[in-house]
Amino acid sequence: MLVRTVRVIPLTIALVVSLTLAGCSRSPSDTTTANSPANVILIIGDGMDQQQLTIARNYLAGSQDKLLVDTLPSLSSVRVQTLEANNPQQFDYVADSANTATTLATGVLTSQGRISRDAGGLVSLPTIVEHAQAAGYRTGIVTTSSVTDATPAAFASHSRHRKCGGPRNLAKPLRRFLSVIDCGDEAIDRGGPGSIAHQMVNSGLEVLMGGGKQKLSQPGYGGEDSPLASAERNGYQLITTPAELDAVGTDKPLLGLFAAGHLPVQMIGAGQRRAEHVDLEGDKPSLAGEVFSCVQNPAASSVPTLGAMTDKALAMLGDDPQRGFFLMIESASIDKQSHARQPCGHIGEVQQLEQALRSSLDYAANHPNTLILVTADHAHAAQIIPDQEQFERGGMVFHSPGSVARVRTPEGSVMMVNYATTTLPYEMHTGTNVPLYAGGPGVEKLPVYLTQADIYTLMASFLGLAELNQAPGSGR
Ligand SMILES: [Zn+2]
Repeated sequence: MLVRTVRVIPLTIALVVSLTLAGCSRSPSDTTTANSPANVILIIGDGMDQQQLTIARNYLAGSQDKLLVDTLPSLSSVRVQTLEANNPQQFDYVADSANTATTLATGVLTSQGRISRDAGGLVSLPTIVEHAQAAGYRTGIVTTSSVTDATPAAFASHSRHRKCGGPRNLAKPLRRFLSVIDCGDEAIDRGGPGSIAHQMVNSGLEVLMGGGKQKLSQPGYGGEDSPLASAERNGYQLITTPAELDAVGTDKPLLGLFAAGHLPVQMIGAGQRRAEHVDLEGDKPSLAGEVFSCVQNPAASSVPTLGAMTDKALAMLGDDPQRGFFLMIESASIDKQSHARQPCGHIGEVQQLEQALRSSLDYAANHPNTLILVTADHAHAAQIIPDQEQFERGGMVFHSPGSVARVRTPEGSVMMVNYATTTLPYEMHTGTNVPLYAGGPGVEKLPVYLTQADIYTLMASFLGLAELNQAPGSGR
């Protein structure tokens, strides 16, 4: 009954991808095809659709140059698919990070909020991290969010809801708008796998880095230890500062927790400026028409860059000539900053993704059996609209019904960024396709249209895990 609720991926497209890369399938110790083991580096820009990328490209590269990601040899358009929680036969047209990361990690469609569980929330779906480990690969996750956030969580844990992050979340139901999220049944003493934090440090990942100190240092609940105590027992080296990251050796598993929650972003608007609503009738003069620039965030000096974390992860996972690896790298706050109407924060996060990509390409230059994929989980709110001042000069006065930011780019022009998905204090995700940029063996044969489940198939096929797609509960 429960298994029937798992949406089966259309095999036609999955097969095309699988067959396309059949000649590229590897094993962790394959020395016959390219004299080195296979590696997959999956880089996820959370919320990074082409609008968010274009905003960052205009700022970071200017109108005549391109981003590093633009130099990859393959670009496909990826369909984002989401099931309705109460009726998994129906589709939602807007996703969240939990259901989309689940599809990328397992190849199975599900509903919003689920962490590698089916749309009903009870069937756990085997992840590519679990499959890769079973086949002998090394595994790692690096993110600028808390390591318990939805995207990293879906690759190495299972939960009915993304809010079941720390032990305390299991102790008390959480009221959210009109619904209640009860994580109690996830507790180990009630037959569950424990909190997401508990599962992450017991998942066999050799590298786990990001934020999340607050949840991981909570005392245990419901049959689990404090996640930090579990991590220590599992032999992790705990590091919490950029200097410790630089100095740490790569001979033992690595747990990097650099902030209580998510990592601070690298860039902010000068004077803390963000997009604002144009208020023509309010008492206070609106700042919405004033241009501002992006500046370095002073708080970012307390945390390592995503590039530095990626360098360490690759030094650790990538030094074994006998075993390949799977590494997921997430630039998480493209999403969080777009929710908050902060274009500079989101631009800085794309810059971080570019640095992680630079590290990955440098690694792949010496390890050609490396598949590099850069994609997003879902689309987001920000869009570029005409700068109203140019129209005002011609006598046409108008304003956006949403919130706007007029950002001065380094090349001297003004980029008007608009947010208008809600009247709430934060923006919502949007529902367009996301890109898949790819580099590595065989990518020139990738179809122009893919689904997120196809990306799972692509990665599993490259690592030679295709047969494991048939595991019970995967719906394949
Ligand atoms: Zn979001």
